[in-house]
Amino acid sequence: MGAGIGGLAAALSLHDAGLGDVRVAEAAPALGPRPVGGGVCLLPDAVRELTELGLGDAVDGCGVATEELAYYDLSGGTRVWAEPRGLAAGYRWPQYSVHRGELQMALYNAVLARMGTDVVRTGARLTGYVQIPGGAVEALFADAYGGTHSEWADLLVGADGVHSMVRAQMNPAEGAPICNGKVMWRGTTLAEPFLTGRSMIMAGDGARKFVCHALSAPDPRTGKALTNWVAEAPLAEHAVSELPVSAIGDWTREADRAEVLGHFTLHGRHASRDFGWLDIRGLIEDSIAVYECPPIDRDPLAGWTHGRVTLLGDAAHPMHPIASNGASQAILDARVLAHALGTVHSIDDALAQYEALRRPATAALQLTSMAASGEIAVAGEHAAGVDPRALDERGSYGVRGSVAR
Ligand SMILES: Cc1cc2nc3c(=O)[nH]c(=O)nc-3n(C[C@H](O)[C@H](O)[C@H](O)COP(=O)(O)OP(=O)(O)OC[C@H]3O[C@@H](n4cnc5c(N)ncnc54)[C@H](O)[C@@H]3O)c2cc1C
Repeated sequence: MGAGIGGLAAALSLHDAGLGDVRVAEAAPALGPRPVGGGVCLLPDAVRELTELGLGDAVDGCGVATEELAYYDLSGGTRVWAEPRGLAAGYRWPQYSVHRGELQMALYNAVLARMGTDVVRTGARLTGYVQIPGGAVEALFADAYGGTHSEWADLLVGADGVHSMVRAQMNPAEGAPICNGKVMWRGTTLAEPFLTGRSMIMAGDGARKFVCHALSAPDPRTGKALTNWVAEAPLAEHAVSELPVSAIGDWTREADRAEVLGHFTLHGRHASRDFGWLDIRGLIEDSIAVYECPPIDRDPLAGWTHGRVTLLGDAAHPMHPIASNGASQAILDARVLAHALGTVHSIDDALAQYEALRRPATAALQLTSMAASGEIAVAGEHAAGVDPRALDERGSYGVRGSVAR
């Protein structure tokens, strides 16, 4: 439920595991034709899962394989540290910077081709659910015209993102996301490639952070590549003093680039934040559009499952966008859930197995990314607890053959 990265990856994984009767309900009126969102990072463990789903080439077409991650001092542009990533770090699977909307469309097209055109129902907003005694759930939906309907299922998977309705019903006392005292924006800009052209950089000065990477190869005609950036600044410096608009924001809320520039243009020697090889001010000024990022931080939950309802992706474990981990973790959730449902003969036991594997791992990442707030350090493959050998050696989450249930 929810045709984002996690919901679509779950549909494909369940299908791959032989569990064919899957429906994806999506609140948005349509998916495409314009891909929505900015850049997301796919770590090698998530790329392995997509490759095992037969989507390696499709993913490769959505972005750029990352070669290095480099940390810089935002004040002076000095390189603090750098490390290889993906294939360059010895993984069998690349790390990618991809356009979130293009990845979503690649997954959506695979669902349509493999599972049929009626599997994803757009314009269907989940408004609640009712547990049915004996092991089923009734999902309640509203459409854009005020109509309502409901559907029964053996299992409802809440993959409905950071403002999850399913999570809210499951945890009525939880309240709004935690504001960590920062504001964040994202944008994409056509710009000259920097460093290797496959570099991801993170620059910080203790208060502000700027993350940047290419999402495409340079256009042979213009020499410019689609370049993604995420900027973070302290809320105390926010131009709007009372309430951070991002406190109620969503992923598509446009922001004023002048406000972002206000945080990233200082007086003095490095006034323009131009490192020579990376012009931060220019990236913000020339951005196709600037969007707020929603406040993502939430404490880890004590449980994801209630009866025949479970959570997946951002709904289960929203993570700070600057940590670049949300899409990868949603894909891993999807594969582990499908593997459990495809190999364990009771849905309740499968859900317990899914949660036992994924909840502690993602809770640790949530806490790491919260703790890293205020520092330059962000979650990545180290925080995700993977290394090339561990990934090579672990068994596949794919399911051979199907399970009769
Ligand atoms: C429009 C959009 C743009 C984004 N842009 C970025 C970005 O630029 N950078 C970044 O790091 N992350 C971005 N994200 C978040 C990123 O996609 C996720 O962190 C990550 O991929 C995990 O995916 P998910 O499937 O758990 O959640 P999401 O990708 O957020 O998907 C959730 C889906 O559920 C749908 N939904 C929500 N509520 C309901 C409901 N009640 N009923 C039915 N459907 C519902 C949403 O429309 C969405 O399609 C964006 C998310 C969205 C929705």
